[in-house]
Amino acid sequence: MLSLEEARDRLLAAVRSVTERETVPLRDGLDRILAEDLLAARAVPPADNSAMDGYALRCADWPAEGGLALAGTATAGAPFKGALPAGHCVRIMTGALVPDGCDAVIMQEECDLSGQGCTARVHLRRAPRPGENIRRAGEDIAVGDGLLDAGRRLRPADLGLLASLGLSAVEVLRRPRVALLSTGSELREPGEPLAEGQIYDSNRYLLTAMLRRLDVAITDLGICADTPERLQAVLESAARGHDVVIASGGVSVGEADHTRRVLDRIGRVDAYKVAMKPGKPFTFGILGEALFLGLPGNPVSATVTFHQLALPALRQLAGERSGESPLLVPARAAAPLRKKPGRADFQRAVLFADGDGHRVATTGSQGSGVLSSVTRANAFIRLEAERGDVAAGDTVSVLPFDRWLM
Ligand code: AMP
Ligand code: MG
Repeated sequence: MLSLEEARDRLLAAVRSVTERETVPLRDGLDRILAEDLLAARAVPPADNSAMDGYALRCADWPAEGGLALAGTATAGAPFKGALPAGHCVRIMTGALVPDGCDAVIMQEECDLSGQGCTARVHLRRAPRPGENIRRAGEDIAVGDGLLDAGRRLRPADLGLLASLGLSAVEVLRRPRVALLSTGSELREPGEPLAEGQIYDSNRYLLTAMLRRLDVAITDLGICADTPERLQAVLESAARGHDVVIASGGVSVGEADHTRRVLDRIGRVDAYKVAMKPGKPFTFGILGEALFLGLPGNPVSATVTFHQLALPALRQLAGERSGESPLLVPARAAAPLRKKPGRADFQRAVLFADGDGHRVATTGSQGSGVLSSVTRANAFIRLEAERGDVAAGDTVSVLPFDRWLM
């Protein structure tokens, strides 16, 4: 049996990233993987502009006996043309270009006005400071700045940043192609009637949802009955045209568990059995050109092994390079936890703030088929393989559900 870490390392060592690129409109870039390092070809903002509504002026004109005369107005998109005459200021709005010759903007709240029309004068209550309330050209991004690295999963703010540079399209890696099936002669599609001994297929729905968050191209192969011939035919055809084939169920050692035997025959089993709970029967290998991931059939096991093993593999396959390791929060156990040393344990739990720290309580039955224990949870208590029973008040490591689980 491999430790979880060994299994993950072996799996990642077997995964090559996609390299084919495509150009997509910026509005379709969310969650795609950036194909190249992006450097800024222009500055943001492109020119000095005002951070406030107020008056643009030359500091050297202060103190101005009788106030400054108004030379004109600058609004965002409609600059003041020409140079500022001595003893004058320009009415300016947020985002407007700072007129030539001006070196400060004073907020309108700090000015008094006298006179009207061409006799209007602006009086400052204090000395202006050079540069105040001016957003400098390039203050957000300077020309040549490194912006985003290849392998970045694009976020909403990234798309805004690229738009601020005038880019209307972005070069990304193609999406991995993933085939997904459920194995089990007992499984029925939700919406169909159930005969005796049958249950609904929940794994394909929860796994499809997690794959959608990953933004991969999904081929839904439906449910495959537990016969070796049927399974072999489905897997052989799935291997063509997909980067990964994900199956749930049939990876244990029961009589109806054909997945590993079939994989042995038409592909290669690289590892099976991982020292984790739930999820021990997790299997991976090679199927033609495709990676094969065999998740246990119990829905909680499928969820945990997908999150802990399939997800890192799929992210690497997609070309994602994320330096971040998952956040682990220390928390005190609200009640005792049962644990036999030997396997890394992922107990479904609720993490909550408690004074200066955190406390964590399980969501009840930890059976690997009890999917409601996941829906009630917001975190996993992650107990190390060697750890034994935990007493109430002991500190444990907690893995808050991330965007892939929430
Ligand atoms: P298996 O790994 O095929 O031995 O399945 C273990 C348990 O999970 C059995 O009780 C199966 O009925 C159940 N199971 C397998 N696949 C699914 C599925 N797609 N949805 C819900 N339960 C499943
Ligand atoms: Mg089965």
